[in-house]
Amino acid sequence: MHVVAAISQSALAHNLNVVRTQAPQAKILCMVKANAYGHHIDLIKPLFQGDFVAVSELSEARILRQHTALPIVLLSGIFNDTELNEALALKCHLVLHHLSQLSIICHSTQAIKVWLKVDTGMHRLGLSLSELSRCLAQINHCPNIHIECIMSHFACADEPEHANNLTQLNAFNQINTTGINRSMANSAAILGLPQAHFDYVRPGIMLYGVSPFATINKKLQPVMQLSAPIMSVKSIHKGDSVGYGAGWTAKQTTRIATIGIGYADGYPRHAKNGTPVLINNQLCTLAGRVSMDLICVDIGDLKVSVGDRAILWGHDKLPIETIAAHSDTIGYELLTGVSSRVSFIAHA
Ligand SMILES: *Cc1c(COP(=O)(O)O)cnc(C)c1O
Repeated sequence: MHVVAAISQSALAHNLNVVRTQAPQAKILCMVKANAYGHHIDLIKPLFQGDFVAVSELSEARILRQHTALPIVLLSGIFNDTELNEALALKCHLVLHHLSQLSIICHSTQAIKVWLKVDTGMHRLGLSLSELSRCLAQINHCPNIHIECIMSHFACADEPEHANNLTQLNAFNQINTTGINRSMANSAAILGLPQAHFDYVRPGIMLYGVSPFATINKKLQPVMQLSAPIMSVKSIHKGDSVGYGAGWTAKQTTRIATIGIGYADGYPRHAKNGTPVLINNQLCTLAGRVSMDLICVDIGDLKVSVGDRAILWGHDKLPIETIAAHSDTIGYELLTGVSSRVSFIAHA
């Protein structure tokens, strides 16, 4: 009796193929940071059919290296010699997003592949265009450094009509990058801004079958299905309330199924009354507050027995986007928030 996150291998392969179909000319850098967006690095083998993989930090690269021989792009880059040496031992490509990183790699004599990250308007990480020029000039004097790619990141790609997208794209196109690969597209730009595909695309959320937009994308297949056991079924009367704070009150006689999942498993505590839960192929609704280990669901007269399993997200009838909308968050946060108490299993 526990929560299970079932990870579909065929859905991963399918979604990677959607990327290939959308951007047939580009090489694919699969984003597997944050333990593969919460899907567990050891359960996402089909993604290692891409060309590169990327993680945020060295601790993730260390684990990832046990599962693939692909080049690993280290998005944070390195901040001192110790990190540099470990990153190179792990055969990482290094993102260089700040000039302070340049002197560290220039002083090294080892062969280093870098991805230069340029700030085209998001103002989070990245070199300004003038810093990029200085960087390129200095790297000319560092024969150990090979520039693999110049990259930038969109702030608003999930709104394809947003004016910032073209402003950023124009800034990126101004850079003289003759002979150097370019990369700009995350999932939203892969799907919505074909003029931003360039040489390498960087899909994240879409690989896991979740739309980067506010709407659901039928081409993608959800990879994670989260399910939990029904622990109790009881009848209640009109006027009876359910859960902490008596946060929901029955308008009529009904039945309540109590399910063994809560915010300690990663089910969002902010899910509102009425959030759908799929039980025996029927959508039911959350009744009352999410507890640490339990939720309660109004099942009316649906045939439900103790031991049946409820699906919380990751089904055609119940996409994670719907749960995100009911909890004022995004699929990314829900996926990366599934906790270590949950059993992860890979299946075909
Ligand atoms: C995480 C990340 C991506 C992927 O973004 P999605 O919206 O998940 O597709 C792309 N590029 C960079 C630099 C990232 O950090």
